[in-house]
Amino acid sequence: MGRTKDRFGHDFNSQQQGLYCGSNPNSGIRGFRRPKGPDSVNEKHTMALLDQSQTNYGAAKRFRLVLREQGSIREMGGEDMSIAVGITDSIFMNALDTGTSDIHLQPERDQLKIRYRQDGVLHDTGQLPSEQAQNVLARLKLASGMRIDENREPQDGRIDMEYLGRRLSARASCIPCLNGEKFVMRLLDPNAMKVDLSKLGMPEDVLRKWQKAVQIPYGLILVTGPTGSGKTSTLYASLHTLDSRTRNIVTVEDPIEYEYDRNIAQVQVTERMTFPKVMRTFLRQDPDVMMVGEMRDPESLAIGIQAGLTGHLVMSTLHTNNAIETIGRMVDMNAEPYLISGVLVAILAQRLVRLNCPKCRQPYKPTEDEVRSLDLTDEDLEKGRFAKGVGCGDCRGTGYKGRIGVFELVLGTPEFRVAVAKASDYLGMVEAAKRQGYRTMLEDGKAKALAGWTTPDEIIKAVYTQAM
Ligand SMILES: [Zn+2]
Repeated sequence: MGRTKDRFGHDFNSQQQGLYCGSNPNSGIRGFRRPKGPDSVNEKHTMALLDQSQTNYGAAKRFRLVLREQGSIREMGGEDMSIAVGITDSIFMNALDTGTSDIHLQPERDQLKIRYRQDGVLHDTGQLPSEQAQNVLARLKLASGMRIDENREPQDGRIDMEYLGRRLSARASCIPCLNGEKFVMRLLDPNAMKVDLSKLGMPEDVLRKWQKAVQIPYGLILVTGPTGSGKTSTLYASLHTLDSRTRNIVTVEDPIEYEYDRNIAQVQVTERMTFPKVMRTFLRQDPDVMMVGEMRDPESLAIGIQAGLTGHLVMSTLHTNNAIETIGRMVDMNAEPYLISGVLVAILAQRLVRLNCPKCRQPYKPTEDEVRSLDLTDEDLEKGRFAKGVGCGDCRGTGYKGRIGVFELVLGTPEFRVAVAKASDYLGMVEAAKRQGYRTMLEDGKAKALAGWTTPDEIIKAVYTQAM
């Protein structure tokens, strides 16, 4: 059978890939203990954690926390046989083995609950009795550069680690709650960020236009969406396609999620080195491309627009619901429509949806609600290959495994720029966008549900409700 493409240019015969995992699912890591699901809670797992803690101290240590001090790196000390050290290591190892993006340590009255976020959803993975919890928290605070004796104020920090020869880090945050301190870590895995642009799930025409847009020498390129919609992965993947030897590429980030090997200067934003301050300084350093993690305030946006107008390519993100609404958001942030019109190269809006588990997915008939919400036609229902996972050991009973993006792209074509200059006219912008082949995220998501990559429910949750 030949390869077929649908009317939206998706190539549905290409192999499905579970992207946007917290860590690389293909790294061949052994010793994987997968928590079984919501109902096997979870004394067993605490035992598994303790159990594993005894096994990390062989001849070659698989996991270690490291402390970075002014450019140099040393292993974090600690009683090798101490239970707290072992448990801490196991919490990280289990998370890294299971594609976890965030680790939550949640204090309850008599225990500390451990929860992992996987494919965007939190799962209980175990708990620790309070005595041990204290020692584990102390170790984590130490590793992340927080003050151990401070338990009345929120603190944040960064934890560096090595696992099976890979260097990883976590952004850590701690806040005193009613029952103790709640500690949350976002795992930052360089491997997960080294994603190929062509594998994020963009329809073929969107990918082609986007690839062309990021090669443009100057202007403003934006990726938009809520937190956790994969914006950073898209930016990193796009930067990877640029030639960093012949161009001066700089980044301003919070946090730095991926460290480039060469030629790219990255700056972590801090209280003293703010986005505007670093951006202004970089502009004096002869940049070609500046990637700004997020433009949170009018000042950063103004500098970004000015940089884009004066011969630099600026790539950044904004929190907006869809691509066209982004124009209005920039105007709300005090940007002049005629300047936006002059600088705009492209706006990509995106969401992540969960992929059907390839092991347990079954043909599926959309419900009446889903038919209405997605506006499915009789033809869609007849020809669509709708599917849904029933749940198996491979997907922890959820029916889903891995995630993929749904996208909408607007280019700064001359016609669209004219519409932007009159930013009050939303419908005019939509019309101009449609004439360049713009399709909404909902349409892209619908195509992905029709092809059985994901369920109608995922699309409705990710796109439809937020587009209302
Ligand atoms: Zn499954």
